[in-house]
Amino acid sequence: MELRKLVAGNWKMHGLASDIDEIRGIAAASRQYAGVDVALCLPAVLIERAVRAVPDFPIGAQDVHQAEFGAHTGSVSARMLHDAGASLTIVGHSERREAQRESDPEVRAKAEAALSCDLGVILCVGESEEVRAAGRAVQTVRAQLEASLPGQVDDAARLAIAYEPIWAIGTGKVPTTTEIGEMHAALRGCLRRAFGEAGARIRILYGGSVKPSNAAEIFSVGDVDGALVGGASLKAADFIPIVAAAAAPVT
Ligand code: PEP
Repeated sequence: MELRKLVAGNWKMHGLASDIDEIRGIAAASRQYAGVDVALCLPAVLIERAVRAVPDFPIGAQDVHQAEFGAHTGSVSARMLHDAGASLTIVGHSERREAQRESDPEVRAKAEAALSCDLGVILCVGESEEVRAAGRAVQTVRAQLEASLPGQVDDAARLAIAYEPIWAIGTGKVPTTTEIGEMHAALRGCLRRAFGEAGARIRILYGGSVKPSNAAEIFSVGDVDGALVGGASLKAADFIPIVAAAAAPVT
């Protein structure tokens, strides 16, 4: 099934008030590609300012706490993100799974908290280089997804999965199209088993060193329904050609 593609930028810990003009530029240029959903996931403190600058453009967060409120110093709840104007959030990015030791059940709880507050979710999964070298990439990522998925999804358009091999993030290394296709097909199988027909409508993004030069080839792979883009999302000059590649008919 051909799904409307989603291209989301992950600004990680980049972005100051002086970058709002770049966000304006990305939002304005994205409007030319009406057939693609485009979003930027920003540092929490920049969300409200960005939403005011580009009110019609989806602005997201990069993480959310699973609790509704309480004694969680430094954390931000789904309701707070929604209140700030965010419309989506990333959960389970490998940088958080590694540095903050986030577990699959925690990622699942974060996804559920976000969905229940009307936020879209991009749920990240991906294997390490050692796991891929050992030939266990598909089984490992499948198990990770099964353990991280929210229990229920009322609107398939609100959940996206991002397959991000850890070894491809920020390294310039990219899996072959065969490896991407094999992984996305396996993840599609998981989603169908978990959610039935709705599982066919949940987008599966690829993430890891996506650039203007490789985007079209990646988008031509079956079950690649968009991309999560880190470094190349910081500047419109790099990000918009990726959006354009997602808009182009697959040949
Ligand atoms: C990411 O961190 O989500 C990512 C995909 O980064 P990059 O595009 O820089 O590899």
